[in-house]
Amino acid sequence: KADKSGVTRFFEPAMDTRFRKRHVLQQELRLAIARNEFVLHYQPIAKIDGSIVGFEALVRWHHPERGIVQPSEFIPLAEETGLVAPIGEWVLREACREAASWDKPLQIAVNASAVQLKHGNFAALVESVVQRSGLSARRLEIEITEGVLLTDSAVALRNLHQLKEIGVNIAMDDFGTGYSSLSYLQSFPFDKIKIDRSFVANLPGNAQSAAIVRAVIGLGHGLNLPIIAEGVETHKQLAFLAREGCDEIQGYLIGRPEAIESYRMLTGKSQKR
Ligand code: C2E
Ligand code: CA
Ligand code: CA
Ligand code: CA
Repeated sequence: KADKSGVTRFFEPAMDTRFRKRHVLQQELRLAIARNEFVLHYQPIAKIDGSIVGFEALVRWHHPERGIVQPSEFIPLAEETGLVAPIGEWVLREACREAASWDKPLQIAVNASAVQLKHGNFAALVESVVQRSGLSARRLEIEITEGVLLTDSAVALRNLHQLKEIGVNIAMDDFGTGYSSLSYLQSFPFDKIKIDRSFVANLPGNAQSAAIVRAVIGLGHGLNLPIIAEGVETHKQLAFLAREGCDEIQGYLIGRPEAIESYRMLTGKSQKR
C-alpha cells in the first residue's frame, strides 16, 4: 500500500515487527541446529495398572539466553520453514540411541511432523537410524497427528506402510481434534490411538467429555486398537479411564517430561559408551 510519500509499504508496523520476530527466530533456529542446542525430555507411558511400558520423547530448545524453550514456541515455525526435518532427524537419532542403551526393553515414542512424513525417504531414514542405534524396530513408535495426512497423503501412506514393514509402530496422536479422524482410521495403518488431552481434562464431571472418551475407547477396541489417554492429571480421571477399559495412560499423574536421568530407576542403568 502507498503512503503520502509515495513509498510502497507492504506491512503495517505491527505486522512488520511480527515478521521481523519470525525472521530472527528462524535465524536462531538454524543456528540452534548447527550448534546442537536441542535436548530431549522423556515422559513415562503406563499401562492402566500403573506399570511403565515406555516413554515419549519431547524436544526442548536449550536457548543460550532464554533458557529452555518449549516446542509450542518453535515447532510451528520449524514446520513452516522445513527446519523441522533436521530437528526431527536429530530427535529420532537421539531418542533411539538413548532407548537402545537401557537395560529394560521399554517402548520409545517419537513425534513426527507432516513435513517429515511427506519426504519420500522418511521411512528409509527411520530404518537406517534404527539399525545404526541397535534398537529393535518393535520398540519404536512414531506418533503422527491426523493433520499430517491431509496433504500429499500418497507419500505419507507409502512411508507408513514401509515403517510397518520394518516393524515400527504407528500411533495416531491427538485423536479427535482434527477433521477426518474416522476416515483416517480406515485408510491408514495405525497401531494405537491417543485420545487428546482436551477430552481427558474435563473427566469425569463433564458429560460430553465422558461420552466422547467412552465412545473413542469403544471405537478403538472395535478396531482392535489399544487406546492411550494423554494429559491424565488426577486419580479421578484415572479411575474413569480404568472403568471404561482404557489401555494406557500418560500425564502428570504418572510423571512429567524430564531429563532421562530422572527416570533411571525405570529404564535401568544406561549402557552409554
Ligand atoms: P504432544 O505430542 O501431544 O505431546 C504431549 C504434550 O502434553 C507435551 O507438551 C507434554 O508435556 C504435555 N503433557 C503431558 N502430560 C500432561 C498433563 O498431564 N497435563 C498437561 N497440561 N500437559 C501434559 P510439550 O512437551 O510442550 O509438547 C507440545 C507439542 O509439541 C507436542 O504435543 C508435539 O505436538 C510437539 N512436539 C514435541 N516434541 C516434538 C518433536 O520432537 N517433534 C515434533 N514434530 N513435534 C514435537
Ligand atoms: Ca505426541
Ligand atoms: Ca498428543
Ligand atoms: Ca498435542
